Parts: sequence; C-alpha cells; structure tokens
Amino acid sequence: MPAENVQNFIAGKWCDPIKPGETFLRKDPANGEEVSKHSQAGKADIDAAVAAAKKAFAGWRSTPQPKRAEVIYRSAEIARKRKEEIAQLMTREMGKPIAEARGDVQEAIDMGYYIASEGRRAWGLQIPSELPNKRMYTMRQPLGVCGLITPWNFPIAIPTWKTYPALLMGNTVVFKPASETSLLGKRFTELLIEAGVPSGVFNLVVGAGSTCGNALVEHPDVRMISFTGSTTTGLGIAAKAAPLNKRVSLEMGGKNPVVVMDDADLELACNAILWAAYGTTGQRCTACSRAIIHAAVYDKLLKMLVEGAKKLHVGHGSDPKSFLGAVVNEKQLKSIHGYVEIGVKEGAKLECGGAPLTQGEYAKGHFYPPTILSGVTPKMRVAVEEIFGPVLSVIKAKDYDDAIAIANNVEFGLSGSFFSRDVNLCHRASEEMEVGLCYINAGTTGAEVSTPFGGWKNTGNGHREGGPTVIDAFSEIKTVITDYSGKVQKAQIDNN
Ligand code: NDP
Repeated sequence: MPAENVQNFIAGKWCDPIKPGETFLRKDPANGEEVSKHSQAGKADIDAAVAAAKKAFAGWRSTPQPKRAEVIYRSAEIARKRKEEIAQLMTREMGKPIAEARGDVQEAIDMGYYIASEGRRAWGLQIPSELPNKRMYTMRQPLGVCGLITPWNFPIAIPTWKTYPALLMGNTVVFKPASETSLLGKRFTELLIEAGVPSGVFNLVVGAGSTCGNALVEHPDVRMISFTGSTTTGLGIAAKAAPLNKRVSLEMGGKNPVVVMDDADLELACNAILWAAYGTTGQRCTACSRAIIHAAVYDKLLKMLVEGAKKLHVGHGSDPKSFLGAVVNEKQLKSIHGYVEIGVKEGAKLECGGAPLTQGEYAKGHFYPPTILSGVTPKMRVAVEEIFGPVLSVIKAKDYDDAIAIANNVEFGLSGSFFSRDVNLCHRASEEMEVGLCYINAGTTGAEVSTPFGGWKNTGNGHREGGPTVIDAFSEIKTVITDYSGKVQKAQIDNN
C-alpha cells in the first residue's frame, strides 16, 4: 500500500503547506512498510490556522452549548462506526497491539459521549449574597483560540481529551499532532468534518514540534496551550508561554510505582504489574516502571514476575497473540536499551530481556522484549528517570514507610498503585502517595474519561484533563453580580 498523504486542514479546506518543508515519511515500526507522509508545515501555516480559528471564534462561541455538543456527539458516533478501520491503522502507524488500538478508539468514543453530555450541564454556581436584593452567579465563557499539542502514544484518545472539551466550551482549535502519527490526526479531523464542525473552528497543522509546535506556543492570538508529552518539552513550553501570560495545561512524564506489601494477593499484584508495565510496550505515561516490593515477599514476587514476563508474546500489533508490539521508532529503541545498560552498570541484575530483538520476524522492526532489572536501589537512574519502554525496575523495601518514601522519591507524580489486604494501610497509602492517580489493588494504567486525570510535581502544572475538571481547564469563569435593591449597598460595611 502506498503511503497516504496528510495535508493541513485550515479554514475548512485541506491544503498543502504554504512553504512545504521536508517530507516526513512514516513507516510501520514493526515491519518498515510505508504508512503515511506529509510535507512539514511551518510558521506561516500556523499563522493561517490561528487566523482562521480567530475568525471563526465569534460564530462558534455564540452557538448554543447544547448545539456545540451535538457536533461532538456526532463525531463520536462516526468514530464508533469507523472503530475497526481506525484501530487497524493505529497499529500500523505507531505499533500498539490491535486490542489496545481498539481501546484507544473506544476511549475517544467514550470521551465524545461524556463531553457531549456536559453540553446540557457544565453548570455555573449560584452564590448566596450577604446583602438583600442582590443576586450572584457564575457563568463559563470560552478562552478563544486553543493550541493543542499531542504525543504519538494515544493518537486518537489524547486529541479527543483536549479537542472535545475545548470545542464544547466555545473555543476554536489549532491542533498539532505528533509527527509520528499525523495520519491518525487526519482521521480524527475527518470525524469532525463529517460531524459538521464549522469552517475554521477546528484546524489541523502537521509539522515538527520545534517549528509548528513552537509557533503555536509563541503566537499572540493563541490564548491557551494544552500539551501532552515529555517533561522537557512541556517545561520549555511553559517557560515560553509565561511572559505571554497564556494558560498552559501540561500532562508530562511519569515514573509510576506499584507498591506491594507482605500481605498482598501476590498473583493479583503480579498480573497487574505485568499489564501495567508491558501494555502498550511500556509506552504509556501511566506505565508501571517500578515495582517496590516488601522484603518478606520480594523473592517470591520477583520470581513470579520474571516467569510471567518471559511468557509474554512480542510481535506485530495486528497479531492478536502479541502482548507487546513494536517500539515507536529507532530512537526510542536505542534510548530504552541505553537505560538497561545504565541499570546494569549501576549494579542492577538483568533478570530477563535486555537486548533488542533483531532476528526472524523482528528483523525489519523495532522490538524490545519485556525486561526486568532486579536489585535496583532508589538512587539509581533506572529508579528515578522515565524510560518509556518495556523495562521494569524492581526495588526492595523494608516496610510500609520505606516503600512509600521510595515511591515518592522521584520528580514525577502521575500514577501510583498500592497492594495490600490491610484496609487501614490502603487508606494511608492513598493519602501519602504523591500522585494524581492512586490505585488500590489495581495497576497504574486504565484511567476512565469521567475521572480527573493528571499528575503532581514534574508531571503536571495543576490542571486536570478528563472528568468535570477539564471543563475548568478550557473555560474562563465570570462572576455576575446584580444588585436590584435600587440603592448603593456596600459589601462588608452595610451588613454589620
Ligand atoms: P515530546 O515531548 O517529544 O512530543 C510531544 C508533542 O510535542 C509532539 O507533538 C511534538 O512534536 C511536540 N513538540 C516537540 N517539541 C516541541 C516544542 N519545542 N514546542 C512545541 N511542541 C513540541 O513527547 P513524545 O511524543 O516523545 O511522547 C512521549 C512523552 O510523552 C513521554 O515522556 C510521556 O510520559 C509523555 N506522555 C505523557 C502523558 C500524560 O498524560 N502525562 C500521556 C502520554 C505521553 P513532534 O512529534 O513533531 O516532535
């Protein structure tokens, strides 16, 4: 199949870049077959897209909110009909196993239904006044043009987490997907076009982060940037946006721990860790990359984990047997392997995996097997730095306090799990783990669309996607005060 071309979508029209840059060719990371290509857009295309979004803003903000919700609902319905085709493409474009690709599309559908249902809700507040004959309430209003920058690992779900609430609240959008998954960005755009999104309300620009992404961040007419990606990129964006006083919502890296106590159901913990560590080939922001195990059950659980990891099948994502698909690209493969080498040099023991797979069916792709490093100590780089691949660092803890201290001893704070049958300890852990998402007796992955999603410390900057909190991220609150007493009433003075 020839590579499908991806254009920009600006002011309701598909178009080539104004000054086409180099061609970006995307190949299936499992077998090297060509999947998609695009000419890299540049600053001029971002300028055109922002201008289109700015022009469309007045019409979209004055469209009643339930009507805006209908566009979102329809696009989710179209995604439901096209689910299998989009999932198959996702597996080829970024490598995730087909069952997970279907899950990614399902998450997008769920987000569409969820946000559309907010169309008739997303309420403001009515606030009692301290003075008579005075009414106070809040209303939500849009921010303006929002720039959305997304990564490749959830190429349909993450764009919907940002686009749907942005559009619902009356904002207009310029969307820059990850270069690796521009074709999925095109598919997402098709859903919105078919659903009837008005011209200019949603615009797609495909180009490099360093040019297009940066131009979006620096554009004076973009009021908000919503970014998901690495911590380095996210903090750079925040620094550039600060002097322009833009709202910036950041979802960044993680180093997510699973803590297992001596009284835990070890089989449950083992299965949960394997799924959380190796699902999406470890390339989830919420992936478990540290198992922190109580000394009393350390040896037993480590053995179970190694046996379990060795049984997981690695292969092309379209093969239903594959638990792990290909790693997204060669750079990422090298980075993962580099970390394993660092871990071994630092004194960790390689229990399984530990080298790229290069023979037979793996020869044309980027494959890395499920890998376990044991004897990891809390200060090693493999204990604190994000690897973003199928590598699990196993750390021994003396007791509960030691385990929680190790779990919290990282710059990130996205997701964390705690396994124990002691209800008191479970409640303590849910208070003491420094994370945005705390799972009790469940793995670190699997957030649902209706729950607030985001992390502490260097994972985020206080905003939450998902759940009702995402409505706050994409709207301004206005407090309206009406005094119908007919006189000048002085708050804090006349009520004594
Ligand atoms: P990057 O930060 O490299 O890229 C993310 C997006 O930012 C891409 O669209 C990229 O464009 C763009 N970008 C890159 N540089 C700039 C820049 N200077 N200005 C503006 N935009 C830029 O991350 P990855 O794509 O490698 O994704 C992996 C990372 O994302 C991991 O660290 C992971 O933890 C994190 N992540 C976090 C999630 C969360 O919710 N917390 C969810 C998923 C991933 P281009 O593709 O063209 O480089």
